[in-house]
Amino acid sequence: MSVDMSSQASDSNEEDFGANSEEEDDEDDGAEEEDQTDYYEGVAGDVEQQSADSFDPEEYQFICLSYKDSQHVLTEEVNTVAAALKVSPSVAKLILVHFHWQVSQILDRYKSNSSLLLSEALVQLSSTCRSVTAPQALQCGVCLQVVWRDSLLALPCQHSFCKACWEQHCTVLVKDGVGVGISCMAQDCSLRMPEDFVLPLLPGEELKDKYRRYLFRDYVESHFQLQLCPGADCPMVIKVQEPRARRVQCSRCNEVFCFKCRQMYHAPTDCATIRKWLTKCADDSETANYISAHTKDCPKCNICIEKNGGCNHMQCSKCKHDFCWMCLGDWKTHGSEYYECSRYKENPDIVNQSQQAQAREALKKYLFYFERWENHNKSLQLEAQTYQRIQEKIQERVMNNLGTWIDWQYLHNAAKLLAKCRYTLQYTYPYAYYMESGPRKKLFEYQQAQLEAEIENLSWKVERADSYERGVVGGEGELSASDRGDLENQMHIAEQRRRTLLKDFHDT
Ligand SMILES: [Zn+2]
Ligand SMILES: [Zn+2]
Ligand SMILES: [Zn+2]
Ligand SMILES: [Zn+2]
Ligand SMILES: [Zn+2]
Ligand SMILES: [Zn+2]
Repeated sequence: MSVDMSSQASDSNEEDFGANSEEEDDEDDGAEEEDQTDYYEGVAGDVEQQSADSFDPEEYQFICLSYKDSQHVLTEEVNTVAAALKVSPSVAKLILVHFHWQVSQILDRYKSNSSLLLSEALVQLSSTCRSVTAPQALQCGVCLQVVWRDSLLALPCQHSFCKACWEQHCTVLVKDGVGVGISCMAQDCSLRMPEDFVLPLLPGEELKDKYRRYLFRDYVESHFQLQLCPGADCPMVIKVQEPRARRVQCSRCNEVFCFKCRQMYHAPTDCATIRKWLTKCADDSETANYISAHTKDCPKCNICIEKNGGCNHMQCSKCKHDFCWMCLGDWKTHGSEYYECSRYKENPDIVNQSQQAQAREALKKYLFYFERWENHNKSLQLEAQTYQRIQEKIQERVMNNLGTWIDWQYLHNAAKLLAKCRYTLQYTYPYAYYMESGPRKKLFEYQQAQLEAEIENLSWKVERADSYERGVVGGEGELSASDRGDLENQMHIAEQRRRTLLKDFHDT
């Protein structure tokens, strides 16, 4: 039996958090008897149960909230703070935004120094900055028109301006996409304008709606436990107990992303490093372009070979030589302890050489990692095609009463697990690129090589199984029970390698 964590998460409601946080506490205590929860749909739990070490380092509890549900979460916290601090809900919102919605921290700070809290949150002037006394002249400070005293409006700072000027100020800023950040018009005054001050100043419902949308965005973005789904036009909000750089998936649009930075999920690399890497790749895309080769020559018989599967273990169709697509080395040396394909050998003497030589070396190093990063990305795409074929084949078989969905599920699971493992492998390369040399890097490279070897073994077996199913190899049309057992064993090994690497190197 397997549990799909994302759907489990989306089905949960607020009350589930109590149970979830208990589970998280267990995790922190290092309890090994964790549930076999897995984040990829259908990855068989019974395969993983063979393992004594079933702890999943990526396990992360989250819930997906609709727009309405997340409004509800926010409103509750607003009411708590407004009641405790005796401020209006719209002022409470500004305070909450400033302190990232850490309600208990706000209440503590308020108890120890209430005016410091209010001035830090820019809702009250600080004691060092004197408030202007009520205006003597009945003149707007912006347009200089003389107006009736009651047509002048001011925040608690008493900087008074006419209604028309405030209106224009707010309209311009909202049209620019500003929400929470609208502040007083007076120079050097940074007092924030609460939403109940701004809303009546906005002409028309359309602009008011826009403003409400920007406010909602700012509330969610500033909340330490919430994150907007980065999917196109998706209104869903992810809620977690403890913010971490972990994989979350939207239950509405299925977008997968890192909770902390909202980029593509990137374990074992951390958020800052992956951003640096992706920027570098974008900047250097010209340099790197030449390496995207679809064909290479067999290192033994020189026949031109096209790569049309994801597996990097190649077999020459002519001379049957087994070699590695990445380094063109003999496959026999891959997966052994001499496996060197994923490791970049740095020149230890490079600091003593010319600037030019150093620049050349830096480029060589970058291209080495980039090529592997790119290649695994391509493999993922090719393996997605294999997965698609497997899906179709299973459908067809089930339709023709050749077994049930359950009979063929292992193939589906193998292809899913392969994608999950290769995805992690791809993201080990930016991690290794920025890692300082030393014993920790050595251990990382060792585990990376082990993971890589097992993934290619798995990919090889999945491709064979797919070919058997298609009748390409042997024409039997069915895998034997031992082949199937072999495949399931390989799945288990690859996933364990992946977990070991993440357990040792992905913590945030
Ligand atoms: Zn004015
Ligand atoms: Zn002011
Ligand atoms: Zn979404
Ligand atoms: Zn991240
Ligand atoms: Zn050959
Ligand atoms: Zn190789």
